[in-house]
Amino acid sequence: MVDDEFYNRLMTTRHHIHQHPEVSESEYETTDYIKTYLRKLGIVPLDYPLETGVIVEIGSGLLIIALRADIDALPILERTGLDYASTNNAMHACGHDFHQTSLLGAAELLKARESELKGTVRLIFQPAEENFQGAHKVIRAGGLVDVSAIVGYHNNPHLKPGQLGLRSGAIMAGVEQFAVTVEGISAHAARPDLGVDAVLTITTIVNNLQQIVARTVSPFQSAVLSVTHIDVGNTWNVLPAEGFFEGTIRTFDPQVRLAVIDSFEKIVRDTAAQFGAKVSIEWGNSPKVTFNDASITPLIFETAKEYAEVIETLPSTGGEDFAAYQERIPGVFAFVGSNGDENAPDWHHDDFIVKDEALPVAVNYFVQSALALLDYYQEK
Ligand SMILES: [Zn+2]
Ligand SMILES: [Zn+2]
Repeated sequence: MVDDEFYNRLMTTRHHIHQHPEVSESEYETTDYIKTYLRKLGIVPLDYPLETGVIVEIGSGLLIIALRADIDALPILERTGLDYASTNNAMHACGHDFHQTSLLGAAELLKARESELKGTVRLIFQPAEENFQGAHKVIRAGGLVDVSAIVGYHNNPHLKPGQLGLRSGAIMAGVEQFAVTVEGISAHAARPDLGVDAVLTITTIVNNLQQIVARTVSPFQSAVLSVTHIDVGNTWNVLPAEGFFEGTIRTFDPQVRLAVIDSFEKIVRDTAAQFGAKVSIEWGNSPKVTFNDASITPLIFETAKEYAEVIETLPSTGGEDFAAYQERIPGVFAFVGSNGDENAPDWHHDDFIVKDEALPVAVNYFVQSALALLDYYQEK
């Protein structure tokens, strides 16, 4: 098994990355650091058209299993007081410093047993997860070509180091961001019959939208729809011509997600039409459901019992752009316990802390999952 020297070295590596965070799509130094690190291990970065981020392969053969870690930070001023705190205006407040470090550790261990590998392991150091652009960039660059299955994880401060949370099906929510513009016809407040009232149109739409979760989603499924911002009108005696509202939908099942989006579009358009108003609906570029493949998740679950305390976790209502990979190929996404203290700050807080002791489970998760999946697909 792996010795203390290995994990001490990885810890130092993580502390260095943590001190030098770079926000989404600006991970230039991080990319250089990863490339240099990998070259020292005898692993040559591949020539994919990515401005930031790195893709490498270990092993050989047509069967390819991908491991993915994200590398970007957030524009947050760090207030952890750690002796390896950020030295600039960004912060690894989501723990992506930890993710990439564990993948570097996995690279070293896989490289050491390269001759035994029953295929190819493709390691994807993905940029820009926080703005949900990175997975699409990797896919456009060809990073998923010929890959049979992909493995990723997020650190989870609500689980202890040593624990691994996993479940088949949804593990993180599908996130929808909607913005709707309503166009009516302005009129004097005293002659609404001469106009098309944007205020009444919007408030009726917002009311009607609440039917979706209450009356179209199965009681055995779940969804959340929140309208969070309405902007219409600016005085007491004029009916405004235009208005706007926005909000978010969260779902945990790809079919439910599509059905809710369909109902949303129908209700918005039909309600507006009833008043004679025009609408335009804009959807943000946000991730779909992070959905663990039922055929390979049990295998990862069983394998993980050898190096972690495995917990069947509830899904998180947050989103993850790893979903973009799982839309195309089977994938497994887990939670690696990273803190576990009662008041551990959540992701994206300025005092967010990932504990170093969590590294072994993260490294093992990558290595053992890759080995198990190479076996599984080789025998298929
Ligand atoms: Zn994040
Ligand atoms: Zn994250």
